[in-house]
Amino acid sequence: MPLYRDEGVVLRTVKLGEADRIITLLTRTHGKIRAVAKGVRRVKSRFGGRLEPFMRVDILIATGRSLDVVSQAESIAAYAAPICADYDAYEVANVIVETVDKLVSAENEQASAQYRLLIGALNALAKHAHPAAAIGDSYVLRALALAGWTPRLRSCVVCGRVVDSSERVFLSVAGGGVMCAADRTPDAQPLSNDERVRMIAAVDGDWTVLDEPMPHVSIRHFVEEWGEYYLERPIRSLRLLD
Ligand SMILES: [Zn+2]
Repeated sequence: MPLYRDEGVVLRTVKLGEADRIITLLTRTHGKIRAVAKGVRRVKSRFGGRLEPFMRVDILIATGRSLDVVSQAESIAAYAAPICADYDAYEVANVIVETVDKLVSAENEQASAQYRLLIGALNALAKHAHPAAAIGDSYVLRALALAGWTPRLRSCVVCGRVVDSSERVFLSVAGGGVMCAADRTPDAQPLSNDERVRMIAAVDGDWTVLDEPMPHVSIRHFVEEWGEYYLERPIRSLRLLD
């Protein structure tokens, strides 16, 4: 069987037969792949815990006729242990892997920018570099922006006028961004200036803003709606965060 080597992050696993699992990974150069890990559920598996969700591994894959097979897996970064030890980080990590799994829909489709964003977010979660919720919000908006769905937050999507921090603005998910009071469509929801500033920081990955605790400001529901609308299917783990 032909072999290829890559590095990847385990997104999810499903049981197969008595002792195997099918592992879904996002890889640096081969995009999303699925491969069987044989014997991985045995106590003395040669893969150890290296093929669990959120693990970043160097893998050797054998190309099969129906399914590929994991031949070797070496750990590059054990994000899983520190993430699973922190409930907030664990929930956000689930949102992250589910989002990228949906965004990169086709197998073997090139997704190196999505891969870099993914390992950046998991690394930040594992190191508790920023508040977990902010890492999740920023990740979802940036991953969707990479896919072409960047919210327009600085100017009205209808008239194009740059909005002022003192005026009332609205966010239309279907419309793709903010709307001024004169142009708002019925679906547009009020967006406070603090929320708008935080949305912009999340899209830009501006941690000086996002690290500042703002307990009265949550952009979670906007991020959730944005994600669900542009991914077209509800993100299950986003709902669990509410
Ligand atoms: Zn307008």
